[in-house]
Amino acid sequence: MFNNDLFTFLKPKNELEQTSEGLTVEYTPEIPEAMWVKCPKCKSLILTADLEATNKVCAKCGHHMRLSARERIAMLSDEHSFEEFDANMTSSNLLSFPDYDAKLQSAKHKSGENESVITGTAEIGGYKTVLGAMDSGFMMGSMGTVTGEKITRAFEYATENRLPVVLCTVSGGARMQEGILSLMQMAKTSGAVKRHSDAGLLYITVLTDPTTGGVTASFAMEGDIILSEPNALVGFAGPRVIEQTIRQKLPKDFQTAEFVEEKGFIDAVVPRKELKSTISKLLKMHR
Ligand SMILES: [Zn+2]
Repeated sequence: MFNNDLFTFLKPKNELEQTSEGLTVEYTPEIPEAMWVKCPKCKSLILTADLEATNKVCAKCGHHMRLSARERIAMLSDEHSFEEFDANMTSSNLLSFPDYDAKLQSAKHKSGENESVITGTAEIGGYKTVLGAMDSGFMMGSMGTVTGEKITRAFEYATENRLPVVLCTVSGGARMQEGILSLMQMAKTSGAVKRHSDAGLLYITVLTDPTTGGVTASFAMEGDIILSEPNALVGFAGPRVIEQTIRQKLPKDFQTAEFVEEKGFIDAVVPRKELKSTISKLLKMHR
């Protein structure tokens, strides 16, 4: 019924227990479902407590599961150092797009957030930084007007206060329910990144699975240093669209972080457990 490997932490079977009558212990594990998670890659069952200890990285196959924006901020920032910007800013249905209001409500309920990005200031290894993280639980991290506005404000604050920016991306791209207003955010955020860069300040992006579409085509790939988590999908259009357009078969690992790194668009693929120390080192070097 269960994968035996899960219970390797139990002591090995004692031969005596098998032979001495009355001492035979028949182990029938019953673990409440809330206590374990199945790795989507290797299908191992992992105890929730073990998964928390590794920040949702499978100890067996190294698969990096998705983190919420709050989990990511907690992982990267020094304890109690995060101070959020614009926490109550929320999208409205500017184009009266059908069902968008209901979708926004459901996204808020599901993620517990008001938008697909959280921004603020934090200390990372003791270095004060503007830190942002996108949330795949909120409409797959799609970029609406408020996402763009919050990111732009974060960069403007960093420029005024001469702070570096660290931004963790996860996104399905522009938010189609906001049409051209969503696409405009690509230019708006890029303008803010440029002004921050012109002021001689450091911007580090951390691409996580998946970073695609309008976010890849704007602030995700505009970092001075671009890091990525292992095996993250990083691309603009999906592989099927590309195959149909160019009428060629794409390589097997196309759009994985490792492939994109090999082609020179990512500076380093960094495992999650080394992410905070890597960012701290970079912040120290660029002070
Ligand atoms: Zn696994």
